[in-house]
Formats: sequence, C-alpha cells, structure tokens
Amino acid sequence: SVPVLTIDGPSGSGKGTISALVAQQLGWHLLDSGALYRAVGYAAGMEGLDLSDVEAVTRCAQTTRIQFRAKKGAETRVIVNGHDATDELRTETAGAAASAIASVPSVREALVSLQLGFRKAPGLVADGRDMGTVIFPDAAFKVFLTASAAERAKRRYKQLKDKGLSVTLSGLQREIEARDSRDASRAVAPLKPAADALLVDTTGMGIDEVVAKVLAVVQP
Ligand code: C5P
Repeated sequence: SVPVLTIDGPSGSGKGTISALVAQQLGWHLLDSGALYRAVGYAAGMEGLDLSDVEAVTRCAQTTRIQFRAKKGAETRVIVNGHDATDELRTETAGAAASAIASVPSVREALVSLQLGFRKAPGLVADGRDMGTVIFPDAAFKVFLTASAAERAKRRYKQLKDKGLSVTLSGLQREIEARDSRDASRAVAPLKPAADALLVDTTGMGIDEVVAKVLAVVQP
C-alpha cells in the first residue's frame, strides 16, 4: 500500500515547515490537517455560529468546502467555500477556533474521509496531532516533534511577525500553552505520540538538521 510518514506534535514544534520540506524532498503528497480544523473554525466564525454548539459546528464541518491550491515555489493557498482564507487561517485566533471545534468528536469524524483521500502514490507526509494515532495508525513511518514551550512560542512569533501580523511574545506563549493543554487533555484524539513514533526534541536544532533526521526514518 501507499507509504505514509506521520509528523505529529504541538504547535510551534516545527511540524509545518519540516513536513513541507520532507514531502518536497521525497516527492510525496502533503496533508496539513491543522488547516482543515482551522478552515472549519473559520467557516463557523463567518457563519456567526456559537463554537460550543455541537450540532451547528458538526454541520459546518460536514458542509464546508476546503481546497488546497499548491503553487510552485510559493505557499499553498487554502480556499474555504470558494474564498482564499490563507491569511486569516494563520492567526492565533483561527488556531484557537480550530482547537475549540477539534474537541468535538463528530467534527473530527466529518474530516476523516477527506484526510484518508490524501493517501496517494507515491506517498504521503501527514502533519497534525493525531496522524499516527488515529488517522493513519498503520503508517510505516511515524515521528513526533517537540520543543520547549519558550522555543515554540519564539518560532510562532517570528513566523507571524514575518507575515506582518502584530503579536507579542508573552501573549503568544500564553495562547499556545492554552491551546496545547486543551489539545492534550481532550477526550478524543488527544495530542500524544503514537507508541511507535520516533520522538525528536527540536529545541536548539536547525531546520536542515531536523529534516535530515526525519528523512533518515524513511530512508535509513
Ligand atoms: O497544526 P495547527 O496549529 O494548524 O492546528 C490547529 C488546531 O487544530 C490544533 O491546535 C488542534 O486543536 C487541531 N488539530 C487537531 N488534529 C489535527 C490537526 C490539528 O485536532 N490532526
């Protein structure tokens, strides 16, 4: 069957950057599963839904159209119900909305088949929180990236600053910690490494070093 490499971890652990680079190196498809939860949270906000209304957010997850538009040499755009929402999805507000709706089991169920559909030849790199534990438990290759809370906040801070967003480091660290503790403590698909995942603490590591370590899992 088509090989899958799962890359799970908390926000700011470097998952997004590393997954994109590794997928590019391998020539494999890429699934940014966080973008799906962000897109549903965003669509729910656009519709003015109460994020704690389970029925409403479930319907939203079932009906929201999410498309990825990959461009050579440029960042992949995320189209939500026909609208390019890439910039809005990046904010920590969107991250918090994603985390809120992601704790609803029926929302997660609504996104399963979409995620499984990304498994196509020659292979898939799947980035998220539950890729190795729930969505692709049979994946041949599994990695779990971590980094200290301070370093993760710093990375997210730099990323958002580079995109021209106004954020403060201390505020961001608080928001990230709140999101991670909610992701780790929820009843369904909590953030945790799969039993058979390789744990990589990326604190103080450069991007190239992490990419090499992850690639070595697939091509020893
Ligand atoms: O990875 P990203 O920061 O874009 O994810 C946003 C939120 O979506 C996470 O904080 C988490 O609550 C949720 N998520 C999830 N399962 C995934 C990916 C993301 O619950 N596989």
